Amino acid sequence: MSCLINQDYIIINLIYLTKFLTIITILDITFGEQYYIMQIRLWGVRGSLPSPINNEEYTGKLNRILDLAITNQLKSKENINSFLSNLPDELRYVFGGDTTCVTVTSDSGNIYIIDCGTGIRRLGNVLMDGDCGKGKGNLNIMITHNHWDHLQGLPFFRPIYVPGNILNFYSPYKKQQEYLENQMSSPYFPATFQGTASTKKYNFIEHARTTPLQLEEDLFVSIYPLKHPQGCFAYKFMQNNKTFIFATDTEFTGETIESSGDTTKFFKNADILVLDAQYTLNEAFLKADWGHTSYTMAVNCATNWSVKKLIMTHHEPAYSDDILQENYLLALEHAELLSDVNTEILLAREGMIFDL
Ligand SMILES: [Zn+2]
Ligand SMILES: [Zn+2]
Repeated sequence: MSCLINQDYIIINLIYLTKFLTIITILDITFGEQYYIMQIRLWGVRGSLPSPINNEEYTGKLNRILDLAITNQLKSKENINSFLSNLPDELRYVFGGDTTCVTVTSDSGNIYIIDCGTGIRRLGNVLMDGDCGKGKGNLNIMITHNHWDHLQGLPFFRPIYVPGNILNFYSPYKKQQEYLENQMSSPYFPATFQGTASTKKYNFIEHARTTPLQLEEDLFVSIYPLKHPQGCFAYKFMQNNKTFIFATDTEFTGETIESSGDTTKFFKNADILVLDAQYTLNEAFLKADWGHTSYTMAVNCATNWSVKKLIMTHHEPAYSDDILQENYLLALEHAELLSDVNTEILLAREGMIFDL
């Protein structure tokens, strides 16, 4: 009898756990209505290739969660939420399999999308519940570079198919229109980009411009060239004396810090820096010139530049949540070894929201 009860508990807990994780996911993709502050939201944090969790990893997580449930004698539905909230991050969450997409919402509520990786698909679904679903959307899309993992979500971004929606692309590449049209064309996709019903506008950002681009009365953006095959650019948003920098894909090394000059000037004192931290230090040596940064170097750079909050992103597609968490803890350990560190360090996770 007690054995049956235990089994029932496990099954009931499993059902509620699944429901709870689903609710978390739904809540994670819901936008608020009003913005009086700059808000940053992560929609895709995986590097190079989408990499959803597989059955083996999922089952492994469930096993460990249920093991903890038994150890902690979880016996009532009422305690499930507090039990889940006390799980270690690698069990409580999935860090995410979608590739790069981030939104910056200005204090006036305008949305600036950085990159069109597969994370943009869920963003599009949410936007369709608002003005974009009525053909009244006016979106700004900033492009860091044109590697697949930063463009491939675009064909699945529903707002592009709605007449009346306006997409303002901002890019440091003169051929940006051509690049977008080429990657969404026959035989790679059944619809062409230029054939979709929305209106597209292209704004070239001059690399060498010395003054920031003014997007709104008090919102400015600057770009900065990064070391990456075929190039890439960081974007720095500035509003109300707050600074948000997005910098991936980039290969920062000791030379980056030592060369200082313009690089330091661009990154110094950022309130939030979302930075490429794809590799371990060993991998970074083995994969020199592949265009990505080790988490160790990401910490070195951010602390050297007095960044207030570092968010490590562009996760290696081969890494499970366990390995990502392991590397994250090692990054924290590394930061502790550095003196005078006031930088908060976080691991990027889909659905994370930061207010500035
Ligand atoms: Zn990438
Ligand atoms: Zn790239």
